[in-house]
Amino acid sequence: MTALRAIQGDITQLNVDAIVNAANSSLLGGGGVDGAIHRAAGSELLQECRTLGGCPTGQARLTRGYKLPAKFIIHTVGPVWHGGMQDEAKLLASCYRESLVLAAAEQLASIAFPCISTGVYGYPPEQACEVAIVAVRDFLRAPGTLQEVIFCCFSENDLVLYQSTLAQIA
Ligand code: ADP
Repeated sequence: MTALRAIQGDITQLNVDAIVNAANSSLLGGGGVDGAIHRAAGSELLQECRTLGGCPTGQARLTRGYKLPAKFIIHTVGPVWHGGMQDEAKLLASCYRESLVLAAAEQLASIAFPCISTGVYGYPPEQACEVAIVAVRDFLRAPGTLQEVIFCCFSENDLVLYQSTLAQIA
């Protein structure tokens, strides 16, 4: 059984096999968690990202972790919230699933996700949390190498939300 848990903290500090970046489609850095990850990983990360040619919304790309404690970074592009009728939930679920597909391909044991799309991209946190937990839980029904999936919440509000939603539906 894979452990699913929520913690509060800075994802760049986590000692896991991979952290997930809520990137934009250029993969060339941005604000929020993306900026924090690029600052902490160092400029070699941007060099590798330049070779990738961007990433469509809902998909994911893997790079090395460079100066991070994490070995890998999985960059995924969440949907911008437009009110919920533009496939936002499908695209957000795809971000979680495609990130886990890459982690499984690398036979990773641990991965940490931020609350994708809930910052500048404006996705309502409660709805995003449910999409995230359901997508991860469903992916983990198939056996694999992952032993731990962490939802790394930046705010206390998100931590409370994830803990109560995990208790209900995970
Ligand atoms: P998006 O563009 O996908 O909305 P943001 O980076 O603006 O991405 O926000 C996504 C989430 O990441 C937000 O919940 C934000 O609070 C959180 N966040 C920002 N910095 C960090 C960090 N260092 N570690 C973990 N989460 C972070």
